[in-house]
Amino acid sequence: MDCEVTLQIFSGNFLEETIPYETVEQKLVSVLPRLPVRKVIMGWRPDKALFEKTAAFLTKRNIDYYLWFPVFSETGSLRELGALADIHGRRIECRADEDFSFCCPNNSQNTKKILDIFEQEFASIGFNGVFLDRIRYPSFANGHGPEFQSVFSCFCPECMAVYEKENLDIEQLKSALSRPASVPLSATAYRGNGEYAFEDPALSAFFSVKAKIILENMSRICRYFREKGYSIGFDVFAPFLSPFVGQDLKALSGLCDFIKPMMYRITNAPAGLPFEMEALLRETGCSDDLKRHAFYRLLGYPTTQGPDQPFDLDFAAKDLQSMTASSTSPVYAGLEINRIEKYAQTTPAYVEETIEAYSQTGIRGFALSWNILDAPEENIEKAADVIGRLN
Ligand SMILES: [Zn+2]
Repeated sequence: MDCEVTLQIFSGNFLEETIPYETVEQKLVSVLPRLPVRKVIMGWRPDKALFEKTAAFLTKRNIDYYLWFPVFSETGSLRELGALADIHGRRIECRADEDFSFCCPNNSQNTKKILDIFEQEFASIGFNGVFLDRIRYPSFANGHGPEFQSVFSCFCPECMAVYEKENLDIEQLKSALSRPASVPLSATAYRGNGEYAFEDPALSAFFSVKAKIILENMSRICRYFREKGYSIGFDVFAPFLSPFVGQDLKALSGLCDFIKPMMYRITNAPAGLPFEMEALLRETGCSDDLKRHAFYRLLGYPTTQGPDQPFDLDFAAKDLQSMTASSTSPVYAGLEINRIEKYAQTTPAYVEETIEAYSQTGIRGFALSWNILDAPEENIEKAADVIGRLN
């Protein structure tokens, strides 16, 4: 296959210190000759000098430069944004971990303020495109409580108006949530690419309205970037997790130039497959063996796999394939190549088996995520070997 590589560089969040340009240049000088890199994604701490120098470096080498921009999360640290509301209309408070607090994606004032951040901080820099992250609602990993607060949002007045228009029955949704379940949310089937069936149709209806809200607002946001001539990439959840965060992957793939599902099999943090799977089971009250195995069987996930092992390779590859089969834009599999103690204990063997399996799924290439600056040399070397062999 002709496998392309996208590199991701994390240059700090909105409140952190930024990094020196020399660190970025040294890493790129070392990595670029070894991998077929077509795009570099970097963000998002505003630092004009750092971004401009990197843009000049990449332009000379004919590599597209994308701003990594978190949309419905983190932007709240720069502007006062309308919060998400829970099913009783109460404001969902952020957790101590501020990095993953979300605003209501259906609030038009929020969208305006978020684009205003881009305009003020980034519009003058020579980016070829924007890579839009956090284009979703919170996941099970972002929240807790008997009503799964994070996933069961948003119930602010603007969202309630949409539900009414869509004839969504909130009382039926509440009663579906309060019923005891033998698998998460009494799901009855998983058909791939994020498509679940649920015993209670109120759940399907709710998830589908949420996906529609994200899609409509992303379509507005994309129009803004298109008019300014930017290419667009999307960061999304793995298919089997996508409906719970409001992402219809097939529909979203029609808005962007490329799409990157985060297929992180070893990451013990939000978006990481083992982390999100455990949060889903825990927050829906289904983490005991009986319910866990019932859900595994429904997904087609091996019941022999323990929660402490890396996420099952065959299932991840199959789920990824279900997405590429219906995606209207090229898919770049997000693979964590950085090593971070406790959060991403990656090894060359992990990098090798994951690239080999994912390369068989119809993807265009890999997004080596989420920070090449934290990738150990042995991981980069292994990725270069395997991708060289594939091409
Ligand atoms: Zn809302």
